[in-house]
Amino acid sequence: MNDLMELMKCSELEIKTQLDNIDDIVFYNSKKVLDAFQKENVSEYHFNSTTGYGYNDCGREVIEKVYSDIFKSEDALVRGQFISGTHALTVSLFGLLRPNDIMLSISGTPYDTLHEVIGIKENRSSLKSFGVKYEEIGLLDNDFDYKKILERVKTNDIKMIYIQRSKGYSTRKSISIELIEKVIKEIRKVNDTAIIMIDNCYCEFVTKKEPIEVGSDVCVGSLIKNLGGGIAPNGAYVVGKKELIELIGERLTAPGEGKEVGPSLGMNKLLLQGLFNAPSVVGSALKTAVLTSFMLEKLGYDVEPKYNEERVDIVQNIIFGNPEDLIKYTQGIQMGSPIDSNALAQASDMPGYDDKVIMAAGAFTQGSSIELSCDGPLREPYIAYQQGGLTYEYGKLGLLKALERLGKK
Ligand SMILES: *Cc1c(COP(=O)(O)O)cnc(C)c1O
Repeated sequence: MNDLMELMKCSELEIKTQLDNIDDIVFYNSKKVLDAFQKENVSEYHFNSTTGYGYNDCGREVIEKVYSDIFKSEDALVRGQFISGTHALTVSLFGLLRPNDIMLSISGTPYDTLHEVIGIKENRSSLKSFGVKYEEIGLLDNDFDYKKILERVKTNDIKMIYIQRSKGYSTRKSISIELIEKVIKEIRKVNDTAIIMIDNCYCEFVTKKEPIEVGSDVCVGSLIKNLGGGIAPNGAYVVGKKELIELIGERLTAPGEGKEVGPSLGMNKLLLQGLFNAPSVVGSALKTAVLTSFMLEKLGYDVEPKYNEERVDIVQNIIFGNPEDLIKYTQGIQMGSPIDSNALAQASDMPGYDDKVIMAAGAFTQGSSIELSCDGPLREPYIAYQQGGLTYEYGKLGLLKALERLGKK
């Protein structure tokens, strides 16, 4: 342990430039959040709670205005009635797509939990079962395949162009806001009708710009990830064009009721406080990721991204190359957690995932991955996907435990 602490101290000196850069982004995004709170005049009475239908919930409404300000979007839907990111993505897709519409993913196959939603994997309730068609174009050397995309979208029969930024359980790189901006500009030269939708999970506040600012129409993310700041007990957000948010609201609740209903059930203060903390919590998660990347590379493992690469999301991959090290490391992260630290993580089947998955999630909120967490499907090349860390200090302590369990002195 002492040797590991020593190695950690030395490592921190070597990543000082990266840590300083993260501080700069945290400061910028904190100002963005504070400005929005002040502009919308968030007050104590917004910590109200409604029950039942949830009509006239001024706290819920101010939260959605604050989100719109932060994302520079026309409107927002920020609700605890969304179970998680997957649910918000599902409601958005079902809200916007109609039978015979074509959904085109241009970032390859979407995240595992969306396979049954889209119908890539058969399910009686999928979009496909309603007659929504799906096509995809893969990435090319970690960039968009511009030639194929422009060729496909210029015929104007595509209803939705879908982009997932974070890599999910794949080996590709995550997609930067600059690349999103570039591809949208190119698409809009030949197609001005398709709805451009972004899965923004894990990317919020990692950089200074968000997807609506670079021309996307709708953007979705989870509140048990970045923007919940570790405080939101559940929920997700959707931001974007007013008419699209309206359609999604009507799918979340009921046609004719839409955004007007939805009781906040005491969550308003938690969502506001979580958002307020989010820039700094995302900063802690990023610092933990950079340190993890540096140390595991020093210890001989392949990592992605490298410590000095530009970051798009809070996810750190460690490519273990064998199941034993992946399992040990993940167990170590669990042992370094505040909750259920005595549980020994095991690989098991998970709903929505094809392979057995091992997960370390000693979190206050079940499944929360803005809290230090680590997971990986048991398949080649045995990659751990680590993310989160509510504070940098707890992130470092978790990392030390994982390295110890890995048998590193
Ligand atoms: C986590 C994640 C989701 C799903 O979010 P949940 O909140 O876990 O349902 C979707 N897409 C990507 C890229 C993700 O990382």
